[in-house]
Amino acid sequence: MKKVISIIIDHKEIQLEAGETVLQAALRMGKEIPTMCYYEGLETHTSCMMCMVKDAKTGTLFASCSKPAEEGMDIITKDEEIIEARKTALELLLSDHVGDCEAPCQLSCPAHMNIPRMNRLLAEGKTQEAYEVVMQDIPLPSVLGRICPAPCEKACKRKEIDTAVSICLLKRYAGDFGKIESQNHRVAESPIPQIAIIGSGPAGLTAAYYLRKRGYQVKIFEKEVRLGGELRHPDLHEKLPAEVLDREIDVILNTGIQVQFGVDADLAFIEGLQDEFAAVVVATSVPKFEVRSSKFKNQDIRVFPIQSAKLAIQAVARGKNAAFEVDQFLKGENVTGEPKRFNSRFGKLLEPEFAEYLKESNDLDRLEPEVLANGFSSDQVKAEAARCLHCDCRKLDNCKLRDYSDEYAASQRRYFSIHDRQLVTKNIQQDVVIYEPAKCIKCGICVRITSKYKEKYGFTFIGRGFDVQIQIPFGESIAKGLQKTAKEVAKACPTGAISDPTRIK
Ligand code: SF4
Ligand code: SF4
Ligand code: SF4
Repeated sequence: MKKVISIIIDHKEIQLEAGETVLQAALRMGKEIPTMCYYEGLETHTSCMMCMVKDAKTGTLFASCSKPAEEGMDIITKDEEIIEARKTALELLLSDHVGDCEAPCQLSCPAHMNIPRMNRLLAEGKTQEAYEVVMQDIPLPSVLGRICPAPCEKACKRKEIDTAVSICLLKRYAGDFGKIESQNHRVAESPIPQIAIIGSGPAGLTAAYYLRKRGYQVKIFEKEVRLGGELRHPDLHEKLPAEVLDREIDVILNTGIQVQFGVDADLAFIEGLQDEFAAVVVATSVPKFEVRSSKFKNQDIRVFPIQSAKLAIQAVARGKNAAFEVDQFLKGENVTGEPKRFNSRFGKLLEPEFAEYLKESNDLDRLEPEVLANGFSSDQVKAEAARCLHCDCRKLDNCKLRDYSDEYAASQRRYFSIHDRQLVTKNIQQDVVIYEPAKCIKCGICVRITSKYKEKYGFTFIGRGFDVQIQIPFGESIAKGLQKTAKEVAKACPTGAISDPTRIK
């Protein structure tokens, strides 16, 4: 029978069998301790230093995964010094980590649209699904596909190799042809509070759409006799036919939004809305400070003024964010707007990396529609979408490095040097895994899994110090190295270094 000892963790005594580590004891108590190189069922190989805790008697920090618990220990699992130490550990891991979490095009799109996902679907001929992806962030794809100056294309990595992917025209195609089978966007009626939207330009329409999609009752107040605001400006007539705008406004209204025309909403009108509405989004040129300081007898109501924007896509982004804020407000949450996640970024591709990125693409030149006003044909769309390099990481929604960088507000730039970085390589073994060594943090989990299951080759550490690499020995292929363990290794790798080749569509 094993000896039973007692230790204190965060001022609470716990009894455990001798031999258990401090980390295991703390996890059993329900403590949240971050780990990257620890993997249950495998022997310990301390390298990431994320599981640091403090000896309360001496003030010493140590890695809890490698220290067996000892009688009388007094442990602190979280304080400012521990948080700072974990953050530094993360920043050191990030200093040698080369990868983009989200694609640069998506980060440059003010509405943060998932462009690589749209491209993958269009390349496969899945126009309807591509349309649904676009509509998650931009409810006016046919409109924006005709008038947007495409800041996303300026950031496109394909531009570094030859020319940017024609993202804007691809989105236009998804908007023009995806919605045909998708007219029924009506949202179930619900008794949740009414929201007033003042103005029906791109910001007002967008806020109305995303609030309605969340189930709220929404009413738009518009001065003119038609919706669209600045989108009806005569300068846009040539590029943006009225029927295209009308069709997209209909899709938005068909979700079940009410409209009242001919309302010149001044401050007094907005103040008069307080008896009927729980929140008011002001998407017109009524002076925003005036709006904020206006007198509302009803303290429960809140006004959300949207700042005017130069570009329609910025107005869409602000409308979407306003919808997010109203939703937070009505749920009684802190009003912080859409959260911004940590994004690892490494800047421009270097020439030796072009071929690596082209492995997931084609080598065609950028396509142009035969007649610009007609947009792409269905064959052109597939070919142009297939030019995308898929710069987004396969693990971006399932990566411990990204999650902890968010949680600890880590900065990649603290120790990272853009001039002295590793080169990106992509070892693509279809049906097995994709291995991207520049994203590896040398946690050794893959090495220990392949060893545990007695792979003939498996992964191993090759080299020393800073130059150490995880490789299959004797130059064998990854397919040969991972005959039994490919799936488990891809799942267990805490970063996008080893991933399943299938993308989430
Ligand atoms: S491995 Fe993680 S941190 Fe690195 S690029 Fe992928 S998602 Fe981002
Ligand atoms: S190549 Fe594709 S994923 Fe990469 S930046 Fe361009 S459009 Fe985005
Ligand atoms: S490739 Fe292996 S060593 Fe590198 S991060 Fe993934 S599991 Fe860890």
